[in-house]
Amino acid sequence: MSSPTRITHLVAGAPWEGTPGRTGPVYNPATGEQTGELDLASAALVGEVVAGARQAWAESWGDASLTKRTQVLFAFRQLLDERKEEIAALITAEHGKVLSDALGEVTRGLEVAEFACGIPHLLKGGFTENASTKVDVYSIRQSLGVVAVISPFNFPAMVPLWFVPVAIACGNAVVLKPSEKDPSAAIAVARLWTEAGLPDGVMNVVGGDKEAVDALLTHPDVKAVSFVGSTPIAKYVYETGTAHGKRVQALGGAKNHMIVLPDADLDLAADAAVNAGFGSAGERCMAISALVAVDPIGDELVEKIKDRMGKLVTGDGTRGCDMGPLVTQQHRDKVASYLDAGVEDGATLVVDGREGDVDADGAGYFLRPTLFDHVEKGMSVYDDEIFGPVLSVVRAKTYDDAIALVNSNPYGNGTAIFTNDGGAARRFQHEVEVGMIGVNVPIPVPMAYYSFGGWKNSLFGDTHAHGMEGVHFFTRGKVVTSRWLDPSHGGIELGFPQNA
Ligand code: NAD
Repeated sequence: MSSPTRITHLVAGAPWEGTPGRTGPVYNPATGEQTGELDLASAALVGEVVAGARQAWAESWGDASLTKRTQVLFAFRQLLDERKEEIAALITAEHGKVLSDALGEVTRGLEVAEFACGIPHLLKGGFTENASTKVDVYSIRQSLGVVAVISPFNFPAMVPLWFVPVAIACGNAVVLKPSEKDPSAAIAVARLWTEAGLPDGVMNVVGGDKEAVDALLTHPDVKAVSFVGSTPIAKYVYETGTAHGKRVQALGGAKNHMIVLPDADLDLAADAAVNAGFGSAGERCMAISALVAVDPIGDELVEKIKDRMGKLVTGDGTRGCDMGPLVTQQHRDKVASYLDAGVEDGATLVVDGREGDVDADGAGYFLRPTLFDHVEKGMSVYDDEIFGPVLSVVRAKTYDDAIALVNSNPYGNGTAIFTNDGGAARRFQHEVEVGMIGVNVPIPVPMAYYSFGGWKNSLFGDTHAHGMEGVHFFTRGKVVTSRWLDPSHGGIELGFPQNA
């Protein structure tokens, strides 16, 4: 076993050369081996990084022309595309998801970089000639300064990429704090900005935990915070950041329902439920964790799902398996504890993920896919966000019962309906209180040019990620009313200006 590699901050375009205070371990979840030791930033170091970022923004990037910004963005997009396999390997090594899935995550992040390449068009303001006689009105959008991005473990590259390219395209400097569980992919992506020609100090990464997060949330020079993580921390980040005068978008946890109506193609629905329930070992904020089967198809659907689960191979993500390990031993054990809890609460354990083989060496954090049937509201397997490969089937008598269940859930991230009835699907998309909806699409993650975000406890703040909402989040608007003096504007008039 080799000794763990030091993983450090990226400051002013280069690895930090200071002496670390606190550090934390990083593991390969497929083997259980500690592969890295991450430097954890102190509040004082975060302060220094923010000061450097502010200087880079004030002296270079804040006023960089759109031509210059676009050149950097295109170069970054090219580099990311060229290195995507490398980044995917880093994700698999620290997160555990299988390589093909890791590559998929980088590709979805790349789409945001492509969207940001269109920044000259996205930042175009409005212009109104002669709003009043010989008076023009126009709008402009300007950068904020230093912005912070705080990301979760489950998409180590994609979630930072939801925000960073847009923030940089809008002229800001960024301090990213990735998850301390799997920081290497985010650091590798951040290094590409320097290669792409971004001035030093505009893009920075600090390794860290609560101390670094709190330092970012309270630093007066951090103007905006984009956070993604669990609901309690999202709420805390939103409340603390806004109390310190920042704009905050804090995306939280999820419990995503997939409703299957009796007229749906049950084979396609079963395929979708397995893919969306167990992909990335259920560690996706858009994973389907509650499948709502509307009478009378429940028994048939459960059988079809069970058949498909029997063919899934769980193991080391580098070996072409279907599903990898959970991120840490602690998380694996917490997810496994829900299996006993579900049985105690009266749910039917159809497939027990603690049984069966895995294709891996060493002591990885594996739990195979689990299926519960006859799950009800009030059971912890339904009420909690488990964030693991546990799919719960809930039986509903009617469409009305199914949608009432979804709408009574405190989360509102994603949902899907499976049906061949266009009228039912249209009614569902109108009535459901969830931010991202799939019609026969189990994981409806919006394209980069739309915005990503949920409702209720899945998002604090009112702005979603990327798309035009992202551009608005990372800029401030001004409206200019202008006239070039003309004799017709003369005279004394103390009344409130009116248009003529
Ligand atoms: P987490 O909340 O534990 O951590 C997220 C970030 O917050 C990390 O950078 C972490 O270092 C930091 N953090 C953790 N505890 C903190 C504390 N006490 N104070 C300040 N900062 C703290 O989340 P996670 O386990 O890394 O990620 C999984 C969660 O993220 C799930 O709940 C999942 O649904 C959610 N998620 C949501 C979305 C979305 O778009 N809504 C996307 C991805 C993940």
